Amino acid sequence: MTGFGVKREGQTNRTTASGGDKGRVPPAIYNQHGVEPRPPKPNGKDCAWPQINRPEASGAKNGKGGLIDAKFMKTLGIEAMLNNIFANSQWVAGKTAESAVNRGLELQKAGSPSILCYLGEHIAEQGKVEDMMKEYTHLINLMGAKGLTTSIAVRPSPFGSDVKNYADQGKGKTVLDYCYNNLETLVALAAKNKVSVCIDMEALPFSDYTLATYKALQKEYGNVSTVLQGNVRRAEHDLRAMLKDPDFGGHPPVFRLVKGIYKEANEDGMEPVAYTGYDNIHANYAKLIGIAFEESPPGTRIVVASHHDARILEALKLSERHPDKQLELQMLMGVRTDLMKNLRAAGIPVTEYVPYGPNAFAYSARRMAKSPDFANAIMADTFKSVPAPIRPLMHKIVEGAYPILFGSKLNIEAARGNSEAAAELEQYLLELPARRGAAGQKGFDGMGKQGA
Ligand SMILES: Cc1cc2nc3c(=O)[nH]c(=O)nc-3n(C[C@H](O)[C@H](O)[C@H](O)COP(=O)(O)OP(=O)(O)OC[C@H]3O[C@@H](n4cnc5c(N)ncnc54)[C@H](O)[C@@H]3O)c2cc1C
Repeated sequence: MTGFGVKREGQTNRTTASGGDKGRVPPAIYNQHGVEPRPPKPNGKDCAWPQINRPEASGAKNGKGGLIDAKFMKTLGIEAMLNNIFANSQWVAGKTAESAVNRGLELQKAGSPSILCYLGEHIAEQGKVEDMMKEYTHLINLMGAKGLTTSIAVRPSPFGSDVKNYADQGKGKTVLDYCYNNLETLVALAAKNKVSVCIDMEALPFSDYTLATYKALQKEYGNVSTVLQGNVRRAEHDLRAMLKDPDFGGHPPVFRLVKGIYKEANEDGMEPVAYTGYDNIHANYAKLIGIAFEESPPGTRIVVASHHDARILEALKLSERHPDKQLELQMLMGVRTDLMKNLRAAGIPVTEYVPYGPNAFAYSARRMAKSPDFANAIMADTFKSVPAPIRPLMHKIVEGAYPILFGSKLNIEAARGNSEAAAELEQYLLELPARRGAAGQKGFDGMGKQGA
């Protein structure tokens, strides 16, 4: 079955990253199917993480099987060449942690937070997961050393959940224990360096595990957030459950609301798990933003990560009506930079998601797939030598080349914007400083807190 499986891993002992047994039990999770983790055994050692149905069976690996996976791309160095070009584009910060931290420091100096993320997902080789751990350890230590006190993004699939032929080397009996221990090691190191960690949300099979991991880590460390997606039906339930959950050890839940990037399929004869169609997905996304403001306790920080004018406008208006809640807007580096500039000029900081790493091409192609305008701009910027009259055709080229390279069709139509909302947002931003001045409001601070 696709979707969030309700099976659980067998009896497993939780171990810490250093190999010691803490006997930790996964927390109660927000599963609308009402399945809770088995109660712990009297010795406190039994635990059962929500199982992740293999992503191959879901939409998590959209786009596999195109030319990009062909051996000759690597052999001829074509993949490396494309990665080189795109690692230095406007939406990837470079290949190294140093370059990402430099981008973060630039933003921090200008009053904008950032989220640093090393590109890569669905890692099947344990050795490569260990390399990932080394990379993130270096990144966090570098952030600490340079005084970059913002965030990093992680997710289960590059940190152990997808490892095949797993060998327990003292970091957990199963891949899910291993993954949790890896994430905990990073969260603990991040806490020491005053860095926050967002556990990004992958495709639906990962939801239960991600939420359980998030809750356990946030409860213990207080520097962790996660993501809820507008395109999945369970998100409304998950959000309400999270807002009402008293079990966070004094740390409030922190969540990012997004539209959702993974294509989720409803199966014939099964309860639908996803919203389909651009308008339905956006309608549910808008509903989630409304619930977050209307039903959360005072002091809640609500993160809205979107480039959509209407969603941003709604979030800003809701934030004005709820000055006791904190709004944080987030956008991807290099995407809708015009809008980012306008928001910042109106005194609203925008947190930038800063990806880096050598595997920049696949990420960049997915970004282009989201928007023909963006694809045009990017192509024009990246290939400056392309004659101007040809540039408007570049999205057609991307559209044609994408399925050949990645083995799946683009869904460019799905990312259309909303010009009425764009005009209204522009007007709203122009009027905001004067309205704020009249109301004696201080505005938003650097971490998205709205001054009262
Ligand atoms: C900071 C951040 C973190 C995210 N984390 C997650 C996550 O953990 N899990 C998850 O499933 N999704 C995540 N996403 C992706 C998100 O779910 C959406 O797919 C993405 O933000 C596009 O949705 P939108 O709200 O911008 O609306 P859309 O309707 O898709 O886009 C609105 C407008 O923005 C433009 N646009 C949007 N996205 C892009 C893009 N990538 N490139 C170029 N133009 C674009 C389009 O042209 C369109 O006009 C994240 C997004 C951001 C910004």
